[in-house]
Amino acid sequence: MTKKNRLRFAPSPTGPLHIGGLRTALFNYLFAKKTGGELVLRVEDTDQARKVEKSQEHIENSLAWIGIDFDESSKKGGQFGPYNQSERKDIYKKHINVLIEKGWAYYAFDKKERLDFHRLDHEKKGKKFIYNAHNRLKLDNSLSMDKKDVEERIQKENYVVRFKTPSETNVVFNDIIRGEIQVGTRDIDDKILFKSDGMPTYHLANVVDDHLMEITHVIRGEEWLPSLALHVLLYRAFDWQEPKFAHLPLILKPTGKGKLSKRDGDKFGFPVYALDWADEKIYSGFNESGFLAEALINYMVFLGWSPGSEKEIYSLDELINDFALEKINKSGAKFDPQKLLWINSQHIQGLNIDKLCEVCEPKNKDIDKGVLKSFLKLVQPRLETINNLKEKFLYLFERPTTNEGLIKKTISEEVKQAVSAFVLKLVADKSLGAQEIKKLLYDCAEENNAKFGKVMGFCRACIVGKMEGPDVVEMMIFIGVEETAHRLKKFLG
Ligand code: GLU
Repeated sequence: MTKKNRLRFAPSPTGPLHIGGLRTALFNYLFAKKTGGELVLRVEDTDQARKVEKSQEHIENSLAWIGIDFDESSKKGGQFGPYNQSERKDIYKKHINVLIEKGWAYYAFDKKERLDFHRLDHEKKGKKFIYNAHNRLKLDNSLSMDKKDVEERIQKENYVVRFKTPSETNVVFNDIIRGEIQVGTRDIDDKILFKSDGMPTYHLANVVDDHLMEITHVIRGEEWLPSLALHVLLYRAFDWQEPKFAHLPLILKPTGKGKLSKRDGDKFGFPVYALDWADEKIYSGFNESGFLAEALINYMVFLGWSPGSEKEIYSLDELINDFALEKINKSGAKFDPQKLLWINSQHIQGLNIDKLCEVCEPKNKDIDKGVLKSFLKLVQPRLETINNLKEKFLYLFERPTTNEGLIKKTISEEVKQAVSAFVLKLVADKSLGAQEIKKLLYDCAEENNAKFGKVMGFCRACIVGKMEGPDVVEMMIFIGVEETAHRLKKFLG
């Protein structure tokens, strides 16, 4: 029996989950589902200084909202736990000792000032200071002192443990999206793997956990590609088989220039987080801004992946079916808020009316439950988002402010006569349906030599106050005969 694929999403709780992380989680999820594999949520919280309160909660809630469920996590448990790295300290300690014993890692006591001095000194000479085989023996570490000294100093002093990067070799490895990659170790520094506060750095913890959790595929953002050579070296130092890697392309700003940053959303007025995030102010999330989780998923998958066909609207099941890592491209993907809006509107149109009511109800408490369904039937084809619907269609609930200019433009003597006749007949028989009202309007137009289109335009101007909105007759039915008559009569003199 072949072993199941095991995937993981490994966020650091250093802030809210943004669209980049969400997309990484999604691609892991799709691949796991597609191949019948398992998905792990591992929280990489070893950097105490960068830990942000409520971040893990925001990450977990965001993933739950979008519908990505995990087979193993801190909440769910699982046989490879604990799933928060801060609870795995002993495991990393044990593994760093293995590397030290094997001669792949060493203690370093260099003071920050000394290292800063070397950096500056190199800069002055137009060079770059790299802590590795070229100079490590001249620096303050366990490679340049005897064992007894080392033992004494680790009791008394702050230290770090560094990786002993092999000198002058070529590390060759593979990325599913980018193919074979070769990196010369000459430019790789002896990265810190472990700190004297007893915590590992990202590099050690990540590699140890991916191995121990039996992860088969590491799918993550391109920003980790420069660390990959080190990670591969670490696997090999432990004598472990490395997983397969796939580094997803960057998500770019809507202008295409530069990486989409957390601040861009605020700057350009669109969300970048799944859910609201309260900091010094509230950053609104996709959910609160009226996006459907399934639409966001549909949009995000196109940030780097393409099915190789014209199809743009996908359900989650269809995505699971069509998804393939090999179809992910290398080049950055532009974040396009307009496209997201369009995809959202397509998903809204695809919902049956009961489902639409169900998703809109909690977000539109200011709309009377009794009219929600008929309201949504009326506006569904025009919805791009599902929040603030009352505000967006206020004229369906309240009288619009008079637009004198528009009324003047749309009214004429014939139109006035036609609409006056219409109002009289409309209030006389309140039981008319849409077809009948339309016919009545048509007949009144004809009898008064008014163009039907002009009559409709005037009615719209009276009812909406603008030349927009749903079908005129449907709006009349929604606001009711009395209200229609009131809004029309106001301008008939
Ligand atoms: N903790 C890292 C992050 O938040 C994970 C990187 C990885 O997936 O290896 O980006």
